[in-house]
Amino acid sequence: MPATPAWPPKSAPRLFVPPVLGPGAQRQIEGNQAHYLARVMRVAPGDTVILCDDATGEWAARVAEVGKRVVVLEVAEQLRAREAVPDLWLCPALIRKDRFDLVLEKATELGAARIQPVITRRCVADKLNLERARTITIEAAEQCARTALPDLAEPARLESLIGNWPGDRILFFADEAGGAPAAEAFAAARGPAAILTGPEGGFDETERARIRALAAARPVSLGPRILRAETAAIAALALWMGSAGDW
Ligand code: SAM
Repeated sequence: MPATPAWPPKSAPRLFVPPVLGPGAQRQIEGNQAHYLARVMRVAPGDTVILCDDATGEWAARVAEVGKRVVVLEVAEQLRAREAVPDLWLCPALIRKDRFDLVLEKATELGAARIQPVITRRCVADKLNLERARTITIEAAEQCARTALPDLAEPARLESLIGNWPGDRILFFADEAGGAPAAEAFAAARGPAAILTGPEGGFDETERARIRALAAARPVSLGPRILRAETAAIAALALWMGSAGDW
């Protein structure tokens, strides 16, 4: 993916809007996004705003009108096509809300294609506000200039995830009890992949055995230290991107 173009300036506000964008289209921006443009960024007619639609890519738009509740934008020209996203899913067990928020944000920045939250026996949380989680990923994508949003799935129980696992996707299972060094395992594998990380209390023995019995599973170690659940998810994702992703 090319780096962010020099024009418009990097400081131009960036927003995700529903598809599909095209030259000459007018967009009425309302609600929180209008508040952000008008009150936080203080845009004025003639200013440039960058729009992404998670379908066609990134566009420059000009501010046509700034109203009390609505900002009208006119789409001018395409800046970048939607990026190609490495085929990596992150399957993090649900953890405390503030820490899971961090995982959502960082997984988006690091380039995950899909985030599949998982519910395991030792999870302290078994619910996720999907709308709020989606907002976190959109804001992270806007901030880091991603042109593609990660797919965000409803939380799935571990048994169901394992039971329906697609055979052609390698499942790197971050196992605090030990496995192949993650850096080596990631470098040796090619093709669709996923990383599964456990909750604060880790996996129990039954879960561990069930995952290891899956033909696609590759238990991996993230080093000699026991990482916090969110550190493990973020570190494993960064390591995979460095070795097999688009870095
Ligand atoms: N309570 C567990 C214990 O004391 O062994 C630790 C769980 S750890 C906080 C949360 C998750 O992060 C684990 O289930 C695992 O997926 C991952 N993790 C943490 N450190 C790891 C390591 N060194 N190797 C592989 N996975 C690790």
